[in-house]
Amino acid sequence: MSAPLFQAVRGMNDILPDEHLYFSFIKKVVRHRCRQAGFRRITTPVMENVELFQRGLGDATDIVEKEMFVFTSNSGKRMALRPEGTAGVVRSYLQNGMQQLPQPVELYYIEPFFRYSRPQKGRFRQFHQFGFEVIGENDPALDAQVIYLAHRINQDLGVADKLQLQINTIGCKECRGAYREALVNYYIGKERSLCGDCKNRLNRNPLRLLDCKVEDCRILASIAPKFENSICDKCKAFHALVLEYLDAFQIPYVKNPQLVRGLDYYTNTVFEFWSRKEGAQNATGGGGRYDGLVELMGGQPTPGVGYAAGIERTIEYMKESGIRAPSKDKVHVFVAQLGLPAKKRAMTLIPKLRELGIYTLGAIGKASMKAQMGLADKFKAQYAIIMGQIEVQEEKAIIRDMTKGSQEIIPYDTVIEVLEKKLGRDKLETHRLWEE
Ligand code: AMP
Repeated sequence: MSAPLFQAVRGMNDILPDEHLYFSFIKKVVRHRCRQAGFRRITTPVMENVELFQRGLGDATDIVEKEMFVFTSNSGKRMALRPEGTAGVVRSYLQNGMQQLPQPVELYYIEPFFRYSRPQKGRFRQFHQFGFEVIGENDPALDAQVIYLAHRINQDLGVADKLQLQINTIGCKECRGAYREALVNYYIGKERSLCGDCKNRLNRNPLRLLDCKVEDCRILASIAPKFENSICDKCKAFHALVLEYLDAFQIPYVKNPQLVRGLDYYTNTVFEFWSRKEGAQNATGGGGRYDGLVELMGGQPTPGVGYAAGIERTIEYMKESGIRAPSKDKVHVFVAQLGLPAKKRAMTLIPKLRELGIYTLGAIGKASMKAQMGLADKFKAQYAIIMGQIEVQEEKAIIRDMTKGSQEIIPYDTVIEVLEKKLGRDKLETHRLWEE
């Protein structure tokens, strides 16, 4: 077979129906837990002015420096496909006057994001995240609540045991400033041992040197000055309370002084969920407090804290743990027919059954009875309704139990009743679109 003429763009994948079972399940869990916790959903555009990210995330971050899809619009404006969610949500908070609402404003999102990095296992150019933001209040209890919500979702998805919460504080602008200076001084004279990236980062974003994965950089980072010597009393007390609340929630954590996260907007709490597996570097999600971000975007000083998790990566962990997403696609009934009168009956019967919550399939094409029964088997239908010319003439239908292989003839006008009884009426899920 020759290769198809078109391929999906590199690093961007189709989500095929089997994969959607996982996506749907994760979305359902996220919606349920977020709603339960009082969060409301927000969607921002996939594209923003590039300055939003440059300003919000910081010029010296990997994302802004090399991972954004940037292009010029038809009218000459520099645009970017969003690489993360927080900057857009904060923009929307300001643009839509959400400061006037009771604070904190609690929002969640489930969206695609784009990063121009080298595609590899668990890293794509288009990927999906769910995330939440709590904007407008500064209390360590909110940091703990956000972490709790993330942890609770991990539990629902069956991956909590595979993951470990890593947590750190990177302080406020003041104490972090002092620490940056201490770090830069420490690295003076050691530049030659640093990797190219770290050499570049040294004066622009020295904290990032702490989480470099290159061996020599790691050795240097391990003996670098510790933030605990620079942290101010206020930040220290704040962090201690976050940890105390986590203890109250009984969420286990590992204190990791080297965790900084890549972005400029974080203050105080930063955290990630890491795989417990030895050597695995891939986090499923991370977040932290961003008390300076709203102001950076031109608003009044307003604190915030948030979290985002990668959906594809979470699915990977679910699969590794042998967790299968529940599927509602169990076929209850296959309607098989032969001849025009039976076909007409089938065509009206199928939607009636579906409306009652009975998951019904039928091959209305020209297939033979044998081929139709083959399909019923293939889809693992529990029952088949079979109608030919004789059945229609006699106002009857055959109902076949596909697992037992037994069948009986019933009056056509009892088909619905019989099926409802056999399947259990209370187990059927009708889709009520409008609810009180
Ligand atoms: P970050 O805010 O960069 O830590 O991203 C949060 C989470 O999103 C990560 O822990 C990953 O699970 C996921 N993620 C980030 N970048 C990618 C990517 N390029 N491809 C797939 N998932 C990603």
